[in-house]
Amino acid sequence: LGVDDEGEGEGEGKDSATKAEPLTADRYTQIQLQRKSLPAFTVKQELIRTIRENQVTIVIGETGSGKTTQLAQFLYEEGLGFNKGNGNKKIIGCTQPRRMAAMSVAKRVSEEMNCEIGQEVGFSIRFEDRTDPNKTSIKYMTDGILLREILADPLLSTYSCIIMDEAHERTLSTDILLGLFRQLIKKRRDLKVIVTSATMNADKFTRFFGDAPQFTIPGRTFPVDIMYSKSSNSDHVEAAVKQILTVHLQSSTDSGDILVFMTGQDDIETTCELLQEKLDLLDNPPPLDILPIYSTLPQDLQKKIFNKSDSKRKVVVATNIAETSLTVDGIKYVIDTGLIKLKVYNPKLGMDTLQVVPVSLANANQRSGRAGRTGPGITYRLYTENATEDSRMYKQPIPEIQRTNLSNIMLLLKSLGVQDINSFPFLDSPPKDLLNCSLYDLWSINALDNFGELTPLGKQMIEFPIEPTLAKLIVQSLEFKCSEEIVTIVSMLTVPNVFYRSKERKRESDMAREKFIINESDHLTLLNIYNQWETNLKKVKNNFSSINSWCTKNFLQLKSLLRAKDIKNQLLLIMKKNRMPITRSNDDTIIRKCLCSSFYQQSAKLTKVNVNGQLEFINLRHNYMKMYLHPTSSLILNSSLSTPYVIFHELVLTSKEYMNFVTTVDPLWLLEFGYKFFDISDVKTKTKIRNEVDFKYIDKESVKQSLESDLEMFQKQQK
Ligand code: ADP
Ligand code: MG
Repeated sequence: LGVDDEGEGEGEGKDSATKAEPLTADRYTQIQLQRKSLPAFTVKQELIRTIRENQVTIVIGETGSGKTTQLAQFLYEEGLGFNKGNGNKKIIGCTQPRRMAAMSVAKRVSEEMNCEIGQEVGFSIRFEDRTDPNKTSIKYMTDGILLREILADPLLSTYSCIIMDEAHERTLSTDILLGLFRQLIKKRRDLKVIVTSATMNADKFTRFFGDAPQFTIPGRTFPVDIMYSKSSNSDHVEAAVKQILTVHLQSSTDSGDILVFMTGQDDIETTCELLQEKLDLLDNPPPLDILPIYSTLPQDLQKKIFNKSDSKRKVVVATNIAETSLTVDGIKYVIDTGLIKLKVYNPKLGMDTLQVVPVSLANANQRSGRAGRTGPGITYRLYTENATEDSRMYKQPIPEIQRTNLSNIMLLLKSLGVQDINSFPFLDSPPKDLLNCSLYDLWSINALDNFGELTPLGKQMIEFPIEPTLAKLIVQSLEFKCSEEIVTIVSMLTVPNVFYRSKERKRESDMAREKFIINESDHLTLLNIYNQWETNLKKVKNNFSSINSWCTKNFLQLKSLLRAKDIKNQLLLIMKKNRMPITRSNDDTIIRKCLCSSFYQQSAKLTKVNVNGQLEFINLRHNYMKMYLHPTSSLILNSSLSTPYVIFHELVLTSKEYMNFVTTVDPLWLLEFGYKFFDISDVKTKTKIRNEVDFKYIDKESVKQSLESDLEMFQKQQK
């Protein structure tokens, strides 16, 4: 089940295989001193008392006060990690909205406890479990992982305490967990639940758990001056670079560090590049460490943001992860673009898309606060003061449950036996429209039946920790007898980009990619890449440097491929556990048909070649939206497609609507599998779900006829 534990627009975390360096005695002492200086340390005993005396405690504290790194250790040191009755060891769990935070914090805590990661202290994120069932006492994990654990063990019987960290972020999984905990704490009187929150939302949690006590960790904060832009900026990257340089050059007497909030990997990288370019133009500028931070950045580079240097200023260019999840000490200047990348359900498209939107006022204040942790600071807001006043900015962020597709969660709740979604104790209820759309989506892919109950297909889908359409794809592949190939494709779709696209060597990298292309299908191209890579891996007998140079030569990312292999193995394990046969097929048509059977709701038709020579498609779901092939698509080079119909994996909205991962399909397959979309015959059978949804059905016969004549026309043209 694809519980989204990616965080807000964050990609896949990777490269966590780095081994912990052994601690020197000096470093250990230093770390212990640092621990003792944290605000949480001064209130340890009172805090523990409150937790002992109450089943649920809400802990509030400024960011950086030690909630994430210290709380779990306190509980452990005070013996709350053990079963009261028999003294057996239980786990202290701590959830994080972001996988990167879960990994990074677990590593920090294992250092503080002087043990190896994966032993006493471990972490678990999707497809990567670094815990030892016999040894691990403190486990950091994404909230999505804990949700899945509830599926297997509804009482969470291996845990003694659960810390719901960063609950104010209000991710979908956190919200659902809170609802489930309200019932669970009645069944498990010995389970301690600790909800930690920045000041926003804290009262809401207290009310939700029947007046649970609040414990505030006193923090010291310093005043932060807020400077606004005089006019609005058209380019936030340029504006940020200008501001960084101004701060860096004007305040060259102090070494206060700078923290910049951007929206994602792309604008972070551009900012860093542009900044370096501008610095290079200067004559002997004061030294500056430029440090990007986003979730797909390799671990060793991520760690660098915590490095301390007294002589050299650093500028950390970050996603929203630095707003509360990660605390970098020594920040004196904050530069806030006022933007954030969020996953938002787009009712026009009928799917979630990533969008860059203005942050809420609460977020903006949280960001500013980061400048005043160690001394007075300054925040430069790259937007006007007016912008904070007019209706452009919300007071509070909108919780994820009110803005994204809920099909994943609905599937999970259904399988937990929650019959009536409307009676679920939501902290904030999702809008009825969203609930209905999500139910409809599940119904339209046959995961729910006409009565809103899980179908056998739906039940099988839940076994896989991936988004519903991909889970369905695997289940479908059993029928098409190509499960081996489909599992490879799913694994490749789940990892970050396998292609290495270098700006300087663009032509070369494009040519390298062309060698792997399978006509008419990006999915089959991915399969081809994986298979060739694996063949080579065997040929060189897993020799790292040989396979690495093979990847470099072919402009492929070894890390992504290794991760795909790992994910594939885990998916195969799940299949074996569920006695699902693993079969091979070398029939491309069968594989394309199988892809169509799970992606018919994301289909499009080629309508014309526009003046720029781009192929223009129209979305079949509503017949009006224009879409284009992603520039890296295998189809883009192909001037003679066999059919104008395609299915696509995802939509990327940038300057244009790009379909990512596209495969051509026979239109009659669309009709065969997508009969719920393209069928009018049984529209009178008003079902529970269909009733509530406004969807335009098309006459099946006329569709069939027009599809056939379309195809004929198209093939004539191609000849
Ligand atoms: P909170 O959860 O209350 O925001 P944390 O427990 O995350 O606070 O942070 C406490 C302190 O630990 C901060 O000063 C932070 O800089 C430090 N810290 C956290 N992770 C690391 C790390 N990986 N390396 C160095 N310092 C860290
Ligand atoms: Mg924290």
